[in-house]
Amino acid sequence: MAVRTRTSKSQNTSISDLVQLEQLQGDSVPLENKTYGTENFSIKEMEYANCVIPSELMDNAQEVLENLQVLRNELKRPIKIIPGGGYRDAQLNAQCKGSKNSQHLQAKASDIRVDGLSPLQVQQTILRLIDQGKMKKGGVGIYETFVHYDVRGTLTQWKG
Ligand SMILES: [Zn+2]
Repeated sequence: MAVRTRTSKSQNTSISDLVQLEQLQGDSVPLENKTYGTENFSIKEMEYANCVIPSELMDNAQEVLENLQVLRNELKRPIKIIPGGGYRDAQLNAQCKGSKNSQHLQAKASDIRVDGLSPLQVQQTILRLIDQGKMKKGGVGIYETFVHYDVRGTLTQWKG
C-alpha cells in the first residue's frame, strides 16, 4: 500500500505569508493616508476643545460616525454631537461627571441632539435601526436634552 505523506500548509508558513497575514490583521495600525469622517460628519465633531482623539482610538470614533451617518440618513436632519459628547480624556470625563468606564473614554460614544426631534424620537429611531441590523448594537441612554449612543457591541438601555 502506498503511503502518502502530506505536509500541512500551516507548518510551512513562509515569511511572505506572515507579512500578508499581518497586513490583513493590520486594522490596529492606522494607515497614514486613511481618511476619517463620513458624508455629513467630520472626525473633529468627536473632539472637544483640546481633547484630541489619540491615533489608536481613531477607528472607534470612525465607527461611531458611520453609525450616526445611518441615523442621519434615516432622520434626514443634521445631528449635533453636544460639547464634550464625543471622545473624552480622563480629565474631560471627570468634568462631565462621566462614569469611570465611560465609552466616551474609548471614543466609542456620542451624546447627540437633533433639532426638531425629542430625545424620545431619536432614541426610538436608534432602537429601530439597531433592531433592523442597520446600526450597531450598543448603549442607548435617554436624557432630558440628548441621547447617548455608543458602539460597545451589546444592547444596553438606560434613562439618565
Ligand atoms: Zn454619553
